[in-house]
Amino acid sequence: MAEHVMSTYNRLPVQFERGEGIWLWDSENRQYLDALSGIAVCGLGHAHPAVTRAIAEQAGKLVHTSNLYGIALQEQLADRLCELSGMDRVFFSNSGAESNEAAIKIARLFGHSKNIDNPAIIVMENSFHGRTLATLTATGNRKVQAGFEPLVQGFIRVPYNDLEAIRTVAANSQSVAAILLEPIQGEGGINIPDTTYLDGIRAICDDNDWLMMLDEIQTGMGRTGKWFAYQHSHASPDVTTLAKALGNGVPVGACLARGKAAEMMQPGSHGTTFGGNPLACRAAIAVLDSLEQQQCVANAEKLGAHMLTGFSAALADVEGINEIRGQGLMIGIELDRPCGELVQKAVTQGLLINVTADRVVRLLPPLILTDKQADMIVEQVSNLIREFIGQ
Ligand SMILES: *Cc1c(COP(=O)(O)O)cnc(C)c1O
Repeated sequence: MAEHVMSTYNRLPVQFERGEGIWLWDSENRQYLDALSGIAVCGLGHAHPAVTRAIAEQAGKLVHTSNLYGIALQEQLADRLCELSGMDRVFFSNSGAESNEAAIKIARLFGHSKNIDNPAIIVMENSFHGRTLATLTATGNRKVQAGFEPLVQGFIRVPYNDLEAIRTVAANSQSVAAILLEPIQGEGGINIPDTTYLDGIRAICDDNDWLMMLDEIQTGMGRTGKWFAYQHSHASPDVTTLAKALGNGVPVGACLARGKAAEMMQPGSHGTTFGGNPLACRAAIAVLDSLEQQQCVANAEKLGAHMLTGFSAALADVEGINEIRGQGLMIGIELDRPCGELVQKAVTQGLLINVTADRVVRLLPPLILTDKQADMIVEQVSNLIREFIGQ
């Protein structure tokens, strides 16, 4: 019964029973186009045959042993992720928040290794990093924090896309060990910084011997048209975190580190019972294989650009659109007014979308999208917005 589930969500009155590709079917067999992918999780769509086969096979062979023993599949997955990202070492977790917790702990170990007594991490306004105590403190949204005080110490907040604000902190504080940010803010409203922003952050981190830590939990795994969003810049982070699309729905997260950041964790520093178990790693390897075989990353780049052009044309004459922006298949349409009710209106038309930051329609469709399906989403979402604004 719903009454026995803790009410952490205001859920829409629909339940899905099965899926295939970009489609979902509810308990009354009505069909929905999923333009949200379970919040950027099902990059390969639903019930992807290769991922399904990998999960089923591994479940029949070995699900879990604990990290007290070697896990070949974990080592294989770490190799693959390091090759794609240019990182050196991986810690596997079960969620985004846990991946960021690992990053925050690495930053603190790094600070202490430099004899900083109370190491601080610079974080951004409007950011989202998760719901554990440390990650909700890092999150730049009061709604996420309210009621959970006392918050965790050691975070300094600055505006996003503002290098000068970071330089000011550098000039006034000796305690900073790291910067943590999203390359594109997802929950915050698909906020895309200037193209030179990450390079600027890299330079500041190098000048001050800080770790550059990127939360790629939403932007990673091909979503923006590169494997990792930082690959649109020249900068490589010292630490980057993954989760969401890594297992296409099987819970698995990762904290990747490079150079000195990769050497911070030692036996006993950190741990997890489930993290990186054979089932999760087998699923993630199948996800990487399929993303590669189906050329999903290039597809995200191509169709993302196509959809942006499509939306600009379809909504050109509509007043009340502040901005249409996106990178790859991470697309935001910002209205001049709150538009949360669009989500329910879309559901009644068989379409799953999201509204974040009150007035931004957020689209995160599966990366396996076809040209025709992309056009369908553009048409349907544009009509919805047009109708909502009353034009
Ligand atoms: C979803 C998300 C998280 C949190 O991931 P969970 O798996 O829900 O803990 C953290 N950071 C970003 C950028 C996210 O989009």
